Formats: sequence, structure tokens, C-alpha cells
Amino acid sequence: MLRPYKLNGLLMQTQISKHLFETAQNIFPGGVNSPVRAWKSVGGAPRFIARGAGAKIFDADGNEYLDYVGSWGPLILGHAHPRVVAAIQDAATRGTSYGAPCELEIELDKRITQSIPSMEMLRFVSSGTEATMSAIRLARAFTHRDKIVKFDGGYHGHADFLLAKAGSGVATLGLPDSAGVPAAIAATTLIAPYNDLDSVARLFDSHRDEIAAVIVEPVAGNMGVVSPQKNFLSGLREMTRAHNSLLIFDEVITGFRVAWGGAQSLYNIQPDLTCLGKIIGGGLPVGAYGGRRDIMRLIAPLGPVYQAGTLSGNPLAMAAGIATLDAIAAIPNAYAQLDARGAQLEQGLCDGARAAKIPLIINRVGSMMTVFFTELPITNYQFAKTSDMQRYAKFFHGMLERAIYLAPSQFEAMFISLAHTEQDILRTVESVDDALKTLNK
Ligand SMILES: *Cc1c(COP(=O)(O)O)cnc(C)c1O
Repeated sequence: MLRPYKLNGLLMQTQISKHLFETAQNIFPGGVNSPVRAWKSVGGAPRFIARGAGAKIFDADGNEYLDYVGSWGPLILGHAHPRVVAAIQDAATRGTSYGAPCELEIELDKRITQSIPSMEMLRFVSSGTEATMSAIRLARAFTHRDKIVKFDGGYHGHADFLLAKAGSGVATLGLPDSAGVPAAIAATTLIAPYNDLDSVARLFDSHRDEIAAVIVEPVAGNMGVVSPQKNFLSGLREMTRAHNSLLIFDEVITGFRVAWGGAQSLYNIQPDLTCLGKIIGGGLPVGAYGGRRDIMRLIAPLGPVYQAGTLSGNPLAMAAGIATLDAIAAIPNAYAQLDARGAQLEQGLCDGARAAKIPLIINRVGSMMTVFFTELPITNYQFAKTSDMQRYAKFFHGMLERAIYLAPSQFEAMFISLAHTEQDILRTVESVDDALKTLNK
């Protein structure tokens, strides 16, 4: 049973979560094992989650929430999808890791490369961070250049050279960079505003023959959702090619999220290298990087670029990824369904905002979207930062009280899964209407 306290007068009990958080704070920095989970930017004690099922999660106190975080992107089928659970169970009976190749790696690779043809060869790793840092190492080796270009507010994992102006978690904490990153390493990273081709052109002019690669989220997801403007991605494609530099698409979020085949199929751009993670692991730790065969051939043991992983290609993770992609493929018009749900929610939010006279901007690409509390169109991180974070925090808690679990930060996406029903969206929209009305008070 749902227990939104607005509806039946029941106060949501959160003692157990609070107690667990107190315990955790003595053990883990900030009580968590990944910063944004600590709710620093929205305040309050994070809920400890005891289980998930479909579009719902249940906290340690037994409260039930409709979940729009989806483990930050991987759970496009929702929680504990029977097919994924069965695949993991089945794989586990045959051993959890071999440290030797297994056929499941080829099976997952087949599904990925058939839908993302630019990935002529790939390498599995265990996280998105590993994928991006390895892709950058590879790009540097291939081009014999050291500098890279990334975009302000773009997040590509926490490797040293990618923690410059990295958005979301970092942004929420108010750290412009991370401590502990040597200045000499940060200096190899050049920054441009998202959607600003002229800035990139200037970087190429002032750093002739020095830029190994441009790394970009083809739909930004870590400054809140920001979609690429017309010609932005194609412009990057042309510019990198003209300067013998590589184009790396970080599709860790967008891969199999915005379309089967990722953003590169949606926008019809072929990057040289692609990084994947999240959905391809079906909720288990997986990443992958891959691309042009002539570039990938530099990876050890074939070539001189070293990169390895004890648990890379892990059979449980491969099985979860295969089951996830097969389950998506088995749903007719899965991406049309996701887009329809997204559109329904977007419309509900717009209507609610108008009724409550709250200015807000919604950026959405299919099933990933962000509600920015601002009036300016959000095309880059600088504009995203104009949104009212306190208002977002209030909205977050208003929704939480109504048993809707949103990302605990203004600069994150909300994710709709294939487990979210039309009814779920309707209920969310009702809660949005109520929650928005309280914001002016
Ligand atoms: C989540 C994310 C990463 C990092 O992936 P991890 O598995 O958390 O290391 C990299 N790039 C993008 C775009 C991401 O959203």
C-alpha cells in the first residue's frame, strides 16, 4: 500500500533510515559510497532502500515510492525485472568470475555492436569511469597528443583529467574541481561551454596539433538534461576530423536510453570512440569502450596501450546486460513507449507549473528529463546554474512526501523506465500539482 501522508494523514516513518544513516556516517565519508546519495543539496537524511520492484522502491521503514532515479540510469526495465533476475541467478550457479574469457562476453558484444555499428571493436570494463579514462588514454596514444577537450558541466566519471568542471555531484557540492588532482594533469583538459562550437573552434586554433580528443555527452545528463542544439554534434564531428583529433561520445547514460543504438543513432553521427555503461550492465557494474578498429587495435595485448580488469567481462554482469537488452528488444516500440510516458509527464509538469504560477523549464530527450526552476532556456551549464536550487529542494521534498522519489539534486536527470505505467505518470502529475502549489508559500 502507498503511504503518501498527504492522502491519508499518516506521517511517513523514517526512523530506521535515520538510524542507519547515523551508523553509516561513522563508517563511510558522509555516510555514503557515492556523494550525491547523501542529499547534501536537498537536505535531510537519505532513505535507505531495502528493495525495488518495477517502478517502485521500498525504504528500510517500509515506505513505498515511485522511483524516477532508476539507480541513476541503468534500470530502464525497472527494478528486479524477472528476466534479468533469472539471468543473474542462472549465471551465478555456474560461477561468479573466472579470470578467463567466457562466451557471454561475445553475446553481449554482439547485441551492442549490432545496434551501435561505430563500435567495430570494444573492451568491457566494470564502470563508466573506467570506460572514459581508458578511451582517453587510447585517444592520446593514437594521436600522440596529450590535451583533451571536455564541456563545462559534462561528467565523465572521476578520473583526474576528467574532473575539471564536471557538473552534477561536483556541482552540487560546490567544488569547482576536486582536491587531489595535480594542476599539471588538470591543465591537460581544456573546457568549452556545451553547445558552443565557436569556443571549441578557438581551442583548436590556440592548441594546434595538441588536442587528442573531444569528449562529449551527446545529450548532457549531468548538468541536468541538456540536449545538443542543431549542428552541435555534427560540428564537433567535422572539427575533430579536420584537426586529426578524435571524437569520443560518452554514451554511458544515453546508450540504449534515448534510442536503441544510443544518441549516435538518434542524431546520426559516428564518433570515433564510444563509452558505455549503466544500461548495458542491467544494474550490475559494467562499462565498455570501443570504436574504430584501427584505434582499438592499440589496446593490450594487441597493442601498446595497457588496460586491464580482474572482473572485466564478469559473467553475472554480462548475463544481466544481455537479459536487459533482450527484454528491451522484446517490447514492441519500447522507445516510443518511453517517449510517450516522458511527453505525458512533461505536459503534466508544464500544466502544473502554469496553474501554480511557478516558472520552470523542462528539458527532455525521450525518457530522460530535468525540471529546472528558472525562466531561461537551458542550453549549457552556465544557464543551468541560474535555476533555483532551494526551490528544487523544496519540490524534491514535496514529491518525496507524496511518495515520489526524484533525484536529490537539481543537476541530475529523472529517468522513466519501461515499468512506469500511464497510471504511474498520472499519479506523479497529481503529486506535481500539489507539490508545486506549496512552493510559493
Ligand atoms: C555515470 C556516468 C559516468 C560514470 O560511470 P560510473 O559507472 O559511475 O563510473 C560517465 N559518464 C557519464 C555520462 C555518466 O552519466
